[in-house]
Amino acid sequence: MEAYEKIYKLYELIETKTVADLPGPYKVGVDLGTADVVLVVTDESGNPVAGSMRWASVVKDGLVVDFRGAMVIVEELKAEVEELMGITLDKGATAIPPGTVGRNAMACGHVIAGAGLEPVCQIDEPVAAAKALNITHGIVVDIGGGTTGIAVLRNGELVFTADEPTGGTHVSLVLAGAYKISFEEAELLKRDAAQHRKILPVVLPVVEKMATVVKNMLAGQHEFDDYPVYVVGGTAYLQGFETEFGKAFGRKVHVPPHPLLVTPLGIAMFG
Ligand code: ATP
Repeated sequence: MEAYEKIYKLYELIETKTVADLPGPYKVGVDLGTADVVLVVTDESGNPVAGSMRWASVVKDGLVVDFRGAMVIVEELKAEVEELMGITLDKGATAIPPGTVGRNAMACGHVIAGAGLEPVCQIDEPVAAAKALNITHGIVVDIGGGTTGIAVLRNGELVFTADEPTGGTHVSLVLAGAYKISFEEAELLKRDAAQHRKILPVVLPVVEKMATVVKNMLAGQHEFDDYPVYVVGGTAYLQGFETEFGKAFGRKVHVPPHPLLVTPLGIAMFG
């Protein structure tokens, strides 16, 4: 399966709560995010087999702030997928924003271990995204709920990573302020595609700020000037995001289908 085909397939499996009829052994990945937790199972070739996700607030700006809550959600997602597949999942991969160190870096592994999945490896989130997109040469920008991370790959080798705490949370905060609604209402408003045309002008300064953050991360690194740029993460769902981010960044960018599922799919491929 091609990369985009895998992403569409994973979306379909999660939406319909079904399992792809593919033989094992299987790989498992868990994305513990600021806005959601996603568990994905793939076969040995990285083809999606099953997945489940839950909106959650157990992580802030890439740090696990509700260890027990995160563990319970992973346990529930694991149980759901196990029931669908009729097997027990025993190990999995996790990911962290680039630059996460020390106990913070260890927290994700502890969460999935507590949920009954032996952690087999932990990678940088944008590296996982690059794997899902099958990119060996290019810049991957992962704009999640709390963080904006980038990974630059040259001939299959990771040559640069960076991360900043700016993401979809900031978009929601701006919407909450502009429309005088709660953060939770702003989150729902933002995820309603029918509202995107209306809200884009309001959130444009945040999108421009994200592009500036990425531009600054790459400042002075002219060897990457002609690298293709892919933007993943839930924030890239915003209609008009690709164009406006590209304008502010000063380069054409590509947003794959279902950008929120790209990193979770890539994490599973490392499982
Ligand atoms: P992080 O990696 O920063 O810890 P995360 O893994 O939770 O966060 P993602 O799952 O990639 O990040 O994206 C979550 C963000 O995407 C949230 O801010 C959420 O509100 C936003 N989002 C999700 N769906 C949509 C949508 N349809 N339209 C706009 N924004 C969306």
